[in-house]
Amino acid sequence: MKNVHLKAYGKINLSLDVKGLTDDGFHLVEMIMQQILLCDEVDLKWREGDEPFSIKLKTNRPYLPVDERNLAYKAALMMRETYAPDMRGSLEINIRKRIPVAAGLAGGSSNGAAVIHGLNVLWDLGLDMEELCAAGARLGSDVPFCIMGQAAENPELKKIFDGDPLACHCALATGTGTELTPVKKGLRSHLVLSKPPISVSTAEVYRGIDNEEIPLRPDTDKLLEALEKNNRDSIRKNMVNVLENYTLKRYPIVVYTKNKVQSLCGEDGVLMSGSGPTVFGLCDSISQSRRVCEAMLRENRESFWTRTTF
Ligand code: ATP
Repeated sequence: MKNVHLKAYGKINLSLDVKGLTDDGFHLVEMIMQQILLCDEVDLKWREGDEPFSIKLKTNRPYLPVDERNLAYKAALMMRETYAPDMRGSLEINIRKRIPVAAGLAGGSSNGAAVIHGLNVLWDLGLDMEELCAAGARLGSDVPFCIMGQAAENPELKKIFDGDPLACHCALATGTGTELTPVKKGLRSHLVLSKPPISVSTAEVYRGIDNEEIPLRPDTDKLLEALEKNNRDSIRKNMVNVLENYTLKRYPIVVYTKNKVQSLCGEDGVLMSGSGPTVFGLCDSISQSRRVCEAMLRENRESFWTRTTF
């Protein structure tokens, strides 16, 4: 039997702009994605044998599906179909979730990415970062970024992808979100995250955003320059997510959470991640992130102090 244990990290969006629609109805985006230390733990056990291929998935969240509706399960099916159709044996996937679900933190995508990486190792497929990202893109638009981030942070994967520019913690995503350009100097910051107790469907937000007025869009070049110079004031000022124009209007509890985090972290540098509802705030020290988290825990049970990976 062979095992692999991988951390499946979450992400935040330092900026997010919607630029238009493709002919087949997908949204074109421009966003800066940053990996964070808050992670799920993904354990894979592979026993090769004569029996037909099988997958058994367990998680510590009873409400999550454990069949092909789960992105980790889907990733395993996709990897077998594409790269190892004759493989026989049993695969066990055990996921210990910490990243809140349907939160705008790419928790599901990250689990899928960990399975893609894990099977590449367990089945000795020898796929390079480009092939892994292409496989990830078939699963979901946030998966390639998670693949890149995990390759840069998981000790087991760092050994394999050392020096590969696609193994990175921060990236500019364009197209439908899967065209990724590594950002060499990402954000180095302590953070607080707070998720109001509602679920927001990514599909609903993207459907709705086309009919909203967008008074302010991110200046991606400015934000990239601020990151390069590690200019914290400029980073804070240039963090803009256009999806707030839909989600904040529909879900007052997200406005309440954002205001509360701003009252504790400062006006700038507080943003909704992805389509929401999680709000994150930049903190100047680990002690500030703990203090703010303690206060936010009184509002939202799913509040965390963490930091970016770099
Ligand atoms: P993104 O930021 O990529 O849009 P998200 O953080 O908003 O993702 P996820 O946590 O990935 O959202 O979950 C979205 C949906 O995916 C949930 O409704 C959930 O039922 C489903 N899902 C499938 N597999 C998983 C998984 N392994 N972990 C979490 N959610 C999963």
